[in-house]
Amino acid sequence: MPRALSALIVVILCFAFPLAAGAQSTASTSLEKAVAALGAQDVRSIEISGSGTIYAIGQNATPTMPWPRFTLKSFTRSINYDTASLRDEIVRTQALDPPRGGSQQPIRGEQRQIFVVSGDRAWNVVGDVNNPVPVALAERQAQIWITPHGVVRAAMARNATVRGRTITFDDPARYRMKVTVDLQHRVAQVEAIVPHAVLGDLPIEVRYLNYRDFGGVKFPTKIQQLAGGFPILDLMVTDVRPNAAVDIQVPDNVRATAEPYARVTSQMVADGVWFLSGGTHNSALIEMKDHLILVESPINDQRALAVLAEVKSLVPGKPIRYLVNTHHHFDHAGGVRAVAGEGVTVITHEVNRAFLERAITARATVRPDHLAKAGRTAKVESVRDQRVLTDGTRIVEIRHIAGNLHHDGLIMVYLPKEKVLIEADAYTPLPPNATPPSAADANPYSVNLVDNLKKQNLDVEQVLPLHGRIVPIAELHKAVGH
Ligand SMILES: [Zn+2]
Repeated sequence: MPRALSALIVVILCFAFPLAAGAQSTASTSLEKAVAALGAQDVRSIEISGSGTIYAIGQNATPTMPWPRFTLKSFTRSINYDTASLRDEIVRTQALDPPRGGSQQPIRGEQRQIFVVSGDRAWNVVGDVNNPVPVALAERQAQIWITPHGVVRAAMARNATVRGRTITFDDPARYRMKVTVDLQHRVAQVEAIVPHAVLGDLPIEVRYLNYRDFGGVKFPTKIQQLAGGFPILDLMVTDVRPNAAVDIQVPDNVRATAEPYARVTSQMVADGVWFLSGGTHNSALIEMKDHLILVESPINDQRALAVLAEVKSLVPGKPIRYLVNTHHHFDHAGGVRAVAGEGVTVITHEVNRAFLERAITARATVRPDHLAKAGRTAKVESVRDQRVLTDGTRIVEIRHIAGNLHHDGLIMVYLPKEKVLIEADAYTPLPPNATPPSAADANPYSVNLVDNLKKQNLDVEQVLPLHGRIVPIAELHKAVGH
């Protein structure tokens, strides 16, 4: 048949059977077509770079605000699909003025961050130190397989279901994915669900726009990511290097430290008051006549269960009645679900109450956690300005740190007889022998804490910070320049 005639017949058929033709072009999507459209068949590694805006998930100043925003000066993501490894190198600067929320605000100048995952190990690189961060593992693994080339590769390996322009598959206990391809069979959107310490299931959504050709491989030049309903990344991609050399090895110390959160050390700071440390985040334990009060359950299930075990060995036979949560930030609330699973009542500021109620009733379907397995729930009670817990002998004052830009619902615990203050994120001590900043460069969150101590007339001798080491109150004053 002459070519012109066959083309004419195709045109006629399309007009005659528009529905059938339309249905065929969408229903015939397959993984093979997606691979071909992306030029993904020979992509074993990739390096992309760009700039834009990045946000800190779980670090908003109230639970209903979007995640705090940072200027993303440069972003380089290197992935090796064969070894399931990824390395992000980020240079970010402060965007919010005044600072609002967590994630090490206010950042002075440029801050470089390096986040890595390889196989089942995740770590951060700080200078020449590799810090294991298992709590970040699930999200980082998902970031490898959520990329356009990663997602079609994972879909092929995991026996995906293809319906119309939608591809679905899962990796049990790691993620569930739903991929939508555009009319050219390129990955346009990926919706993933990953396990999360605070939220149970965390939804991540990525949109891939403005595909361009990079040496035969198609890659989007605009990437928008949301997690938990708010943006986490807006990236303009400027460079893509398919099959760049990406060799990521798990450092020896990371391999040797499989369970960093399991190590809990305890120190008695006053009769019946303990500081529980041993990692990046601390807790405190207060013994009352017939019950215990735990202040903060950070990070994740593993940390929470290790802290609970330490509490049991310090004070055998006395139940924990209350967990005081200082604020909803995900690093500080990551162990709330596990403690709630023990039936312990949670006390927090009223700003965090609805959020924590939802968090401890949320489902964890991808990887059921301690709470999901316990199948029980707990109450959340709230504090506005102040609440006093007492057994007739000991007094425990839970107080609002008012007007702190780190968080609207930040609370501290004050023990008036022991002159002890327990606080998170308003003040984190510098390492011993570090030079304190000038008054002008003082951390505004710490300045606000000092104001609160003065206004609320609190006589503090020792600070038990929920990051870092115990310090005398003089260190806080030095840190703010008076
Ligand atoms: Zn915080």
